[in-house]
Amino acid sequence: MKPVIVRSIAEMQKISRQQIGKIGFVPTMGYLHDGHLSLVKEAKKRSDIVVVSIYVNPAQFGPSEDLSNYPRDLNRDVDLLADLRVNYIFFPSNEEMYPDNYKTWVSVEDLTDVLCGKSRPNHFRGVTTIVTKLMNIVNPDFMFMGEKDFQQLAVLKQMGNDLNFPTEIIGCPLIREEDGLAMSSRNKYLSEEQHKQALALNKSLILAQKLFSSGIDNSEIIIERMRKLIEHTDGKIDYIEIVDPDSLQSIDKLFKGCRVLLAVYIGKTRLIDNIEITD
Ligand code: AMP
Repeated sequence: MKPVIVRSIAEMQKISRQQIGKIGFVPTMGYLHDGHLSLVKEAKKRSDIVVVSIYVNPAQFGPSEDLSNYPRDLNRDVDLLADLRVNYIFFPSNEEMYPDNYKTWVSVEDLTDVLCGKSRPNHFRGVTTIVTKLMNIVNPDFMFMGEKDFQQLAVLKQMGNDLNFPTEIIGCPLIREEDGLAMSSRNKYLSEEQHKQALALNKSLILAQKLFSSGIDNSEIIIERMRKLIEHTDGKIDYIEIVDPDSLQSIDKLFKGCRVLLAVYIGKTRLIDNIEITD
């Protein structure tokens, strides 16, 4: 059975209120891939009703970013979600989400000043605001999010705790293509040649793990080696950082459980990736 597509906030709220079982929610910007679908599968396992939102949120794009080009294909997304027996797709318009005279924003301090927050001012304010709205509309018991966007997950967990949202936020593993590239809707922008160059992101993260496993724990040395590997391609590094996974603050020495994160431009496409350092 195809999922029911709900476009109105009032209708979605009414549906949510009427549910007796647990609601699992997966917020997305659409153009779904196996990374998104892994979240939906987890939601199916843990909940009675699954709601997926598809909304390209203008508030999280900067003025020179790819809002108007962002890939969209609702029919394809609906078919993929029907295969997984998703119950509802919340698919609102911009007018529905940000009517004229919209004035309220939610922001989280500190965690949003670092990493992607430095190069994308206001991005996280857009994310925290839309997720607050979506949680008030869908009223989920669980919300499933990917570790692909590790900083986003940390920011939203902080917001959930600080603002006492009743929703449990569940982080799910990053899903990669067979060749190691982190799955992303933005991979569609890459030419075949750029796709090959983009493999340097994952390779550099694997290098960081290998160096740590071989006994090197100095962040500066590891970042320098990663930088060299990426600079062999045409990739332009936005940042490479090694951080404490909770505070997202840079650390001088790696430890088991820390995170290595990076953002790199391949042509005009900005890609992000990260890895948890293990033994
Ligand atoms: P987006 O549509 O890019 O806003 O992503 C929607 C959700 O899917 C977010 O929670 C992302 O972290 C998650 N996601 C995107 N790509 C991946 C991936 N490769 N693996 C796991 N989760 C992902």
